[in-house]
Amino acid sequence: MKIIDGIFKAEGVVANSYIVIGKDPAIIDCGMPRNARKIIRAVEEAGLSPKDIRLILLTHAHLDHTGSAKEVRAITNAKLAIHELDAAYLTGEKNFALPKGIQGVMLRIIRPFIIAKTKPDLLLKDGEKIGEFKVVHIPGHTEGSCAYLHERTKSLFVGDSISTEQGFLALPPERYNLNTALIKQSLQKLRALNFDNLFPGHGEPIIGDAHKKVEEFLGSLA
Ligand SMILES: [Zn+2]
Ligand SMILES: [Zn+2]
Repeated sequence: MKIIDGIFKAEGVVANSYIVIGKDPAIIDCGMPRNARKIIRAVEEAGLSPKDIRLILLTHAHLDHTGSAKEVRAITNAKLAIHELDAAYLTGEKNFALPKGIQGVMLRIIRPFIIAKTKPDLLLKDGEKIGEFKVVHIPGHTEGSCAYLHERTKSLFVGDSISTEQGFLALPPERYNLNTALIKQSLQKLRALNFDNLFPGHGEPIIGDAHKKVEEFLGSLA
């Protein structure tokens, strides 16, 4: 689905997976396992062939963002990039803490079968430029959570650090976060960035006036 000129969203994929066309066409986040076909469909809808994709940028290493990364990379030959502090969760060297109780027990059993471990091609650092994007490290949801600023379209991809799922800006639920207080602190960095549009991992994108809305949101967190 086209969101604005040059930016598309894969349909039926949660968390959101975005396609950004331009000099170095990119996919931001790769949904759950078995979502590859839907993501590739969005690439084609954007007028590209899968081999045109140069970059896959992951906002963090949670399974709902990385699930089809290995498969999408294999289809596209793109370079897979993630912040260096989340890379070990993608390779399987580290595992996220599981929730307590029966849900955690179930996840422990099925996790080895659903996670396609993979090695990223590029390890990112705060402030670095990659393709047409600037890497903004905003730890808290995970250690290596990042936003990606696409300067040409003034668009900011924030992963899970801000959600619009309930129709307003919100932090991710505490139980999914490494450190919620740290997210609040990290998000202050967004004040200095020049963006009009906000693309979250969960919920609808905000097109136009997004910087003002983020500032108001940050003010309300104090
Ligand atoms: Zn998510
Ligand atoms: Zn997450």
